[in-house]
Amino acid sequence: MAEHLRKPDWLKIRLGGNDQFTKTKNIVESHCLHTICTSGKCPNMGECWSRGTATFMIGGEICTRSCRFCNTLTGKPLPLDLKEPENVAESIRLMGLKHAVITSVDRDDLSDLGAKHWVNTIRKIKEINPETTVEVLIPDFQGNLELVDMVVNAAPEIISHNMETVRRISPLVRSAAKYDVSLAVLSHIAKSGITTKTGIMVGLGESSEEVYELMDDVLKAGVSVLTIGQYLQPSRKNISVVEYITPEHFESYRLTALKKGFNKVESAPLVRSSYHAEKHI
Ligand code: SF4
Ligand code: SF4
Repeated sequence: MAEHLRKPDWLKIRLGGNDQFTKTKNIVESHCLHTICTSGKCPNMGECWSRGTATFMIGGEICTRSCRFCNTLTGKPLPLDLKEPENVAESIRLMGLKHAVITSVDRDDLSDLGAKHWVNTIRKIKEINPETTVEVLIPDFQGNLELVDMVVNAAPEIISHNMETVRRISPLVRSAAKYDVSLAVLSHIAKSGITTKTGIMVGLGESSEEVYELMDDVLKAGVSVLTIGQYLQPSRKNISVVEYITPEHFESYRLTALKKGFNKVESAPLVRSSYHAEKHI
Protein backbone atom coordinates (compact mmCIF):
# COMPACT_ATOMS: atom_id res chain seq x y z
CA MET A 1 0.00 0.00 0.00
CA ALA A 2 1.06 3.56 -0.63
CA GLU A 3 1.59 4.39 3.05
CA HIS A 4 4.37 1.83 3.16
CA LEU A 5 6.25 3.40 0.27
CA ARG A 6 9.75 4.35 1.33
CA LYS A 7 10.72 7.86 0.39
CA PRO A 8 13.53 7.64 -2.18
CA ASP A 9 16.89 9.38 -1.73
CA TRP A 10 16.15 11.97 -4.42
CA LEU A 11 13.48 13.48 -2.15
CA LYS A 12 15.88 14.22 0.69
CA ILE A 13 15.01 17.65 2.04
CA ARG A 14 17.66 20.34 1.95
CA LEU A 15 17.85 22.03 5.32
CA GLY A 16 18.29 25.75 5.70
CA GLY A 17 19.50 27.71 8.64
CA ASN A 18 21.89 30.38 7.37
CA ASP A 19 21.63 34.07 8.26
CA GLN A 20 19.43 34.77 5.26
CA PHE A 21 17.00 32.03 6.33
CA THR A 22 16.70 33.67 9.74
CA LYS A 23 16.23 37.10 8.15
CA THR A 24 13.42 35.79 5.93
CA LYS A 25 11.76 34.13 8.91
CA ASN A 26 11.99 37.31 10.99
CA ILE A 27 10.50 39.47 8.23
CA VAL A 28 7.57 37.09 7.70
CA GLU A 29 6.85 36.72 11.40
CA SER A 30 7.28 40.37 12.37
CA HIS A 31 4.69 41.36 9.75
CA CYS A 32 2.22 38.67 10.92
CA LEU A 33 2.20 37.11 7.46
CA HIS A 34 1.52 33.59 6.29
CA THR A 35 3.43 31.67 3.65
CA ILE A 36 2.53 28.61 1.68
CA CYS A 37 6.11 27.52 2.38
CA THR A 38 5.19 26.78 6.00
CA SER A 39 1.46 26.08 5.56
CA GLY A 40 2.20 23.60 2.80
CA LYS A 41 5.23 22.12 4.58
CA CYS A 42 7.19 22.75 1.40
CA PRO A 43 10.34 20.64 1.14
CA ASN A 44 12.23 23.55 -0.45
CA MET A 45 11.95 25.92 2.51
CA GLY A 46 15.58 25.53 3.47
CA GLU A 47 16.75 26.40 -0.01
CA CYS A 48 14.25 29.17 -0.80
CA TRP A 49 14.34 30.99 2.52
CA SER A 50 18.14 30.79 2.55
CA ARG A 51 18.03 32.53 -0.84
CA GLY A 52 15.80 35.22 0.69
CA THR A 53 12.61 34.22 -1.11
CA ALA A 54 9.23 33.02 0.12
CA THR A 55 5.68 32.75 -1.22
CA PHE A 56 3.22 34.83 0.75
CA MET A 57 -0.27 33.47 1.33
CA ILE A 58 -2.87 36.20 1.67
CA GLY A 59 -6.44 36.10 2.94
CA GLY A 60 -5.47 34.52 6.24
CA GLU A 61 -4.39 30.98 6.97
CA ILE A 62 -7.78 29.25 7.04
CA CYS A 63 -9.20 28.03 3.74
CA THR A 64 -12.90 27.48 3.08
CA ARG A 65 -12.02 24.37 1.07
CA SER A 66 -10.38 21.13 2.11
CA CYS A 67 -8.49 19.53 -0.74
CA ARG A 68 -7.24 16.11 0.24
CA PHE A 69 -3.62 16.78 -0.68
CA CYS A 70 -3.36 20.15 1.08
CA ASN A 71 -2.07 20.87 4.55
CA THR A 72 -3.60 24.35 4.87
CA LEU A 73 -6.01 24.81 7.79
CA THR A 74 -9.64 24.53 6.81
CA GLY A 75 -12.81 25.97 8.34
CA LYS A 76 -14.42 29.37 8.86
CA PRO A 77 -11.79 32.03 8.10
CA LEU A 78 -11.20 35.15 10.18
CA PRO A 79 -12.11 38.55 8.70
CA LEU A 80 -9.56 39.86 6.21
CA ASP A 81 -6.56 41.71 7.63
CA LEU A 82 -6.83 45.02 5.78
CA LYS A 83 -3.20 45.79 6.58
CA GLU A 84 -2.04 42.62 4.86
CA PRO A 85 -1.47 44.20 1.40
CA GLU A 86 0.84 46.79 2.89
CA ASN A 87 2.61 44.27 5.13
CA VAL A 88 3.23 41.96 2.18
CA ALA A 89 4.51 44.86 0.06
CA GLU A 90 6.77 46.09 2.83
CA SER A 91 8.16 42.60 3.45
CA ILE A 92 8.97 42.27 -0.24
CA ARG A 93 10.87 45.56 -0.03
CA LEU A 94 12.81 44.40 3.04
CA MET A 95 13.62 41.10 1.36
CA GLY A 96 14.76 42.93 -1.77
CA LEU A 97 12.78 40.59 -4.02
CA LYS A 98 13.06 41.13 -7.77
CA HIS A 99 10.21 38.71 -8.35
CA ALA A 100 7.44 38.22 -5.77
CA VAL A 101 5.05 35.27 -5.69
CA ILE A 102 1.74 35.56 -3.88
CA THR A 103 -0.95 32.98 -3.34
CA SER A 104 -4.05 32.83 -1.15
CA VAL A 105 -6.41 30.54 0.61
CA ASP A 106 -9.85 30.26 -1.01
CA ARG A 107 -12.33 32.73 0.50
CA ASP A 108 -15.65 31.32 -0.66
CA ASP A 109 -17.18 33.05 2.38
CA LEU A 110 -16.67 36.56 0.96
CA SER A 111 -19.07 38.13 -1.53
CA ASP A 112 -16.21 38.89 -3.96
CA LEU A 113 -14.38 35.64 -3.02
CA GLY A 114 -11.37 37.76 -2.02
CA ALA A 115 -10.81 39.40 -5.43
CA LYS A 116 -10.60 42.96 -4.10
CA HIS A 117 -8.05 41.91 -1.49
CA TRP A 118 -5.99 40.43 -4.32
CA VAL A 119 -6.19 43.70 -6.24
CA ASN A 120 -5.19 45.74 -3.19
CA THR A 121 -2.22 43.47 -2.58
CA ILE A 122 -0.93 43.59 -6.16
CA ARG A 123 -1.31 47.38 -6.29
CA LYS A 124 0.46 47.91 -2.98
CA ILE A 125 3.34 45.64 -4.00
CA LYS A 126 3.78 47.61 -7.23
CA GLU A 127 3.48 50.95 -5.46
CA ILE A 128 6.17 50.14 -2.87
CA ASN A 129 8.32 47.96 -5.17
CA PRO A 130 8.04 49.44 -8.68
CA GLU A 131 10.95 47.33 -10.00
CA THR A 132 9.59 44.03 -8.66
CA THR A 133 7.73 41.69 -10.98
CA VAL A 134 4.65 40.08 -9.48
CA GLU A 135 3.38 36.54 -9.93
CA VAL A 136 0.03 35.56 -8.47
CA LEU A 137 -1.21 32.03 -7.94
CA ILE A 138 -4.95 32.54 -7.78
CA PRO A 139 -7.97 30.41 -6.87
CA ASP A 140 -10.66 29.61 -9.43
CA PHE A 141 -13.02 32.32 -8.07
CA GLN A 142 -15.71 29.68 -8.66
CA GLY A 143 -15.27 30.32 -12.38
CA ASN A 144 -16.50 33.93 -12.06
CA LEU A 145 -14.55 35.57 -14.88
CA GLU A 146 -15.43 39.10 -13.77
CA LEU A 147 -13.54 38.43 -10.56
CA VAL A 148 -10.65 36.96 -12.55
CA ASP A 149 -10.65 40.17 -14.61
CA MET A 150 -10.20 42.24 -11.46
CA VAL A 151 -6.89 40.44 -10.91
CA VAL A 152 -5.97 40.67 -14.60
CA ASN A 153 -6.60 44.43 -14.55
CA ALA A 154 -4.25 44.86 -11.59
CA ALA A 155 -1.60 43.76 -14.13
CA PRO A 156 0.67 41.26 -12.41
CA GLU A 157 3.37 39.94 -14.76
CA ILE A 158 2.37 36.27 -14.35
CA ILE A 159 -0.96 34.75 -13.37
CA SER A 160 -0.94 31.16 -12.33
CA HIS A 161 -3.78 28.83 -11.47
CA ASN A 162 -2.99 25.24 -10.64
CA MET A 163 -4.74 22.35 -12.33
CA GLU A 164 -3.20 20.24 -9.51
CA THR A 165 -3.79 16.86 -11.16
CA VAL A 166 -5.14 15.09 -14.22
CA ARG A 167 -8.83 15.09 -15.17
CA ARG A 168 -9.73 11.66 -13.72
CA ILE A 169 -8.14 12.29 -10.32
CA SER A 170 -9.27 15.90 -9.98
CA PRO A 171 -12.68 15.19 -8.36
CA LEU A 172 -11.07 12.68 -6.01
CA VAL A 173 -8.62 15.14 -4.45
CA ARG A 174 -9.88 18.71 -5.02
CA SER A 175 -12.71 19.61 -2.68
CA ALA A 176 -14.58 22.09 -4.89
CA ALA A 177 -12.49 23.10 -7.89
CA LYS A 178 -13.31 21.42 -11.17
CA TYR A 179 -10.99 20.51 -14.04
CA ASP A 180 -13.00 22.30 -16.71
CA VAL A 181 -13.59 25.39 -14.58
CA SER A 182 -9.84 25.65 -14.01
CA LEU A 183 -9.26 25.28 -17.74
CA ALA A 184 -11.77 28.07 -18.45
CA VAL A 185 -10.07 30.35 -15.91
CA LEU A 186 -6.67 29.71 -17.49
CA SER A 187 -8.04 30.28 -20.98
CA HIS A 188 -9.57 33.59 -19.89
CA ILE A 189 -6.29 34.77 -18.33
CA ALA A 190 -4.29 33.76 -21.41
CA LYS A 191 -6.59 35.80 -23.66
CA SER A 192 -5.58 38.91 -21.68
CA GLY A 193 -2.00 38.48 -22.90
CA ILE A 194 -0.56 38.02 -19.40
CA THR A 195 1.85 35.08 -19.06
CA THR A 196 -0.28 32.17 -17.89
CA LYS A 197 1.07 29.35 -15.80
CA THR A 198 -0.17 26.16 -14.22
CA GLY A 199 1.22 23.43 -12.02
CA ILE A 200 0.46 19.82 -11.26
CA MET A 201 1.51 17.17 -8.77
CA VAL A 202 2.30 13.66 -9.92
CA GLY A 203 2.46 10.46 -7.92
CA LEU A 204 -1.29 10.38 -7.27
CA GLY A 205 -1.84 7.36 -9.50
CA GLU A 206 -2.06 9.15 -12.84
CA SER A 207 -0.70 7.56 -16.03
CA SER A 208 1.76 9.28 -18.35
CA GLU A 209 -0.96 9.41 -21.00
CA GLU A 210 -3.22 11.32 -18.61
CA VAL A 211 -0.41 13.81 -17.97
CA TYR A 212 0.06 14.26 -21.73
CA GLU A 213 -3.68 14.85 -22.10
CA LEU A 214 -3.50 17.54 -19.41
CA MET A 215 -0.56 19.13 -21.23
CA ASP A 216 -2.63 19.26 -24.42
CA ASP A 217 -5.63 20.72 -22.57
CA VAL A 218 -3.71 23.54 -20.89
CA LEU A 219 -1.70 24.32 -24.02
CA LYS A 220 -4.96 24.70 -25.91
CA ALA A 221 -6.13 27.06 -23.15
CA GLY A 222 -3.07 29.25 -23.77
CA VAL A 223 -0.86 28.26 -20.83
CA SER A 224 2.83 28.80 -21.58
CA VAL A 225 4.52 27.85 -18.30
CA LEU A 226 4.12 24.44 -16.69
CA THR A 227 5.47 23.05 -13.42
CA ILE A 228 5.39 19.37 -12.46
CA GLY A 229 6.44 18.08 -9.03
CA GLN A 230 6.07 15.03 -6.83
CA TYR A 231 3.08 14.93 -4.46
CA LEU A 232 4.31 14.46 -0.90
CA GLN A 233 1.84 13.59 1.82
CA PRO A 234 2.12 16.57 4.19
CA SER A 235 0.40 14.88 7.14
CA ARG A 236 -1.31 11.63 8.01
CA LYS A 237 -4.74 13.13 7.40
CA ASN A 238 -3.87 13.80 3.74
CA ILE A 239 -4.11 11.23 0.96
CA SER A 240 -1.22 8.85 0.55
CA VAL A 241 1.38 8.96 -2.17
CA VAL A 242 0.61 6.29 -4.77
CA GLU A 243 3.98 6.38 -6.50
CA TYR A 244 7.32 8.14 -6.32
CA ILE A 245 8.04 9.26 -9.85
CA THR A 246 11.70 8.88 -10.81
CA PRO A 247 13.85 11.88 -11.80
CA GLU A 248 14.19 10.27 -15.27
CA HIS A 249 10.42 10.17 -15.67
CA PHE A 250 10.22 13.85 -14.64
CA GLU A 251 12.84 14.68 -17.25
CA SER A 252 10.86 12.86 -19.91
CA TYR A 253 7.77 14.91 -18.91
CA ARG A 254 9.87 18.07 -19.23
CA LEU A 255 11.12 17.17 -22.69
CA THR A 256 7.66 16.12 -23.88
CA ALA A 257 6.12 19.37 -22.60
CA LEU A 258 8.74 21.48 -24.35
CA LYS A 259 8.21 19.50 -27.55
CA LYS A 260 4.48 20.05 -27.30
CA GLY A 261 5.03 23.81 -27.21
CA PHE A 262 5.29 25.20 -23.65
CA ASN A 263 7.73 28.10 -23.35
CA LYS A 264 9.01 27.15 -19.91
CA VAL A 265 8.78 23.90 -18.03
CA GLU A 266 10.02 22.90 -14.60
CA SER A 267 9.68 19.20 -13.98
CA ALA A 268 11.53 17.51 -11.13
CA PRO A 269 10.61 15.78 -7.87
CA LEU A 270 10.88 18.87 -5.63
CA VAL A 271 9.45 21.40 -8.08
CA ARG A 272 6.56 23.47 -6.72
CA SER A 273 4.61 26.16 -8.55
CA SER A 274 6.68 28.88 -6.93
CA TYR A 275 10.03 27.08 -7.07
CA HIS A 276 12.60 29.25 -8.90
CA ALA A 277 9.63 31.25 -10.18
CA GLU A 278 11.87 34.16 -11.14
CA LYS A 279 12.99 32.08 -14.12
CA HIS A 280 9.48 32.16 -15.57
CA ILE A 281 9.30 35.87 -16.11
FE1 SF4 B 1 8.10 28.53 -0.59
FE2 SF4 B 1 7.67 28.01 -3.17
FE3 SF4 B 1 10.12 27.81 -2.16
FE4 SF4 B 1 8.29 26.04 -1.50
S1 SF4 B 1 9.13 26.34 -3.55
S2 SF4 B 1 9.70 27.07 -0.08
S3 SF4 B 1 6.45 27.29 -1.45
S4 SF4 B 1 8.92 29.69 -2.33
FE1 SF4 C 1 -5.43 24.06 -0.08
FE2 SF4 C 1 -7.51 23.48 -1.65
FE3 SF4 C 1 -7.59 25.59 0.01
FE4 SF4 C 1 -6.01 25.67 -2.13
S1 SF4 C 1 -8.27 25.52 -2.17
S2 SF4 C 1 -5.45 26.29 -0.03
S3 SF4 C 1 -5.32 23.53 -2.29
S4 SF4 C 1 -7.48 23.42 0.61
